[in-house]
Amino acid sequence: MTDMSPGKVFLVGAGPGDPGLLTMRGRDVLARADLVLYDGLANPLLLRLADCPCERTARTQVGGGRIVLQQEINERLIREAHSGKDVVRLKGGDPFIFGRGSEEVAALEAAGIPFEVIPGITAATAAGEYAGFSFTHRDIASAVAFVTGHEDPSRDAPRLDYAALASFPGTLVFYMGLGRVQDICSQLIREGKPGHTSAAVVCQASLPQQQVVISTLSELPTVVTASGLRPPSLIVVGECVDLRPTCSWFEQGPLFGQSVGITRPNHQSDDIAGRIVTLSGQPVIMPLIEIRAIDEEQAAMVDEVLARLDDYQWLVFTSVNGVAAFFDRLWQTGRDVRRIGQLQIAATGSATAAALETRGLRADIVPGSFRAEELAQSLSSHVNGQRVLWARASRGRDVLPRTLTTAGAIVDEVVVYGNDDVEQFDALVLDRIRSGSLDWVGLSSPSIARQFAKLLAAHEIAVSTLRTKIATISPVTSHAATEAGLPVAVEAATYTWDGIIDAIVESGQHVAD
Ligand code: SAH
Repeated sequence: MTDMSPGKVFLVGAGPGDPGLLTMRGRDVLARADLVLYDGLANPLLLRLADCPCERTARTQVGGGRIVLQQEINERLIREAHSGKDVVRLKGGDPFIFGRGSEEVAALEAAGIPFEVIPGITAATAAGEYAGFSFTHRDIASAVAFVTGHEDPSRDAPRLDYAALASFPGTLVFYMGLGRVQDICSQLIREGKPGHTSAAVVCQASLPQQQVVISTLSELPTVVTASGLRPPSLIVVGECVDLRPTCSWFEQGPLFGQSVGITRPNHQSDDIAGRIVTLSGQPVIMPLIEIRAIDEEQAAMVDEVLARLDDYQWLVFTSVNGVAAFFDRLWQTGRDVRRIGQLQIAATGSATAAALETRGLRADIVPGSFRAEELAQSLSSHVNGQRVLWARASRGRDVLPRTLTTAGAIVDEVVVYGNDDVEQFDALVLDRIRSGSLDWVGLSSPSIARQFAKLLAAHEIAVSTLRTKIATISPVTSHAATEAGLPVAVEAATYTWDGIIDAIVESGQHVAD
């Protein structure tokens, strides 16, 4: 036993699916947690907000995994908190709405573990907004009831009073009821609810795979079977579902139903993932390249160069990572930006220029395109007889030094960060590619394009069978993709990840036209 005081357990509502629907308090505690235990309904994208081990605890049998018993989860929470950890228990929707959160809390209370419960947006309210129903529209319903459609089978007599539900003066929302939809509808009708009452099922509410079917109480079971809907789903009974034509918005998002693979380094994926979500699409984070810090020997070389920056007239950056690594090292070695005051700066691409701007620096030369050739050409007329320092990645093309040397410059290259290929697709990504459920993949450099082709081959996926469409960042990347045997569906007009997304959106609009 340690005499350490116990950590705290935070039961956090993860919201219904859209990762943007987490509370700010939830985000804060996730960022500070020592351990996250999440259930199967919490969107894994939320785990990116945590900086600690994250484990999935509850597994449904559908996924083939083991079901983790509630008792085991309670014991685990207690054990981890006793060892001094702050634990986030991340639960789909709201922790206390059909979430067994109160049982977890009772166990913590009994064990003397401090806890806090942070509400979440429950599936029903999200389904209302994302499918376009207003449960309590004042002309339609004066109440709403959240009902379990899945009575505890161990109970002798059901607690649900269907006579009361049938005469309830408002909207009924059934959780966990899809498998019993026939039963639920016929019981309500038997108890006097008119068979023509409007009814709906909302499946995967607030996610890009959201599906909504609208029918009547008597027809709903047949319609549900015909549409092949899958859990998690809610059954909504009441006139409010007729408001859908005037209230729905989410499904009009330009990427609705589309998944888009983001292949850039993991730590740079969040902004673009966020944009995909706001367009009603699904980001799939699948880095094909990773950035790493340089080793000691390389760092010593950087330090040696930093000590004599006065020798140079030009400083060249060809990536955001290069800018970050160079200035981080400058700072870590006790220096700051004043050391480069006399240098002219060149940068490829608007993103690299923007990274310089955040450090209060304006690049003197920024060619319009991403291409090293173009940067080299723009610089050529300025560098005759001058010394140029290129802060580069461990791997990359050598067009720049070659061209500048020919133009009469003395070029020094210093590796400020490492870039490594990711050697395999993760299992979920592979599954998506194989099953055709990755609609798009963005390729943002020639090396990423080649790596994508290489991994497809390694996993024995023939390009001819690939159902994933390819969007590239620039003509150079398209060229590399084509050379590697990949068909390019769209190409960005501006050479950034936003440009890739714009191109995908635009291609969808053509289809719609
Ligand atoms: N605590 C959760 C509910 C857990 S019970 C909450 O507050 O939302 C699990 C049930 O919630 C599922 O069977 C389904 O009925 C419903 N559910 C959860 N997420 C859903 C979603 N995105 N779309 C539709 N129903 C959902």
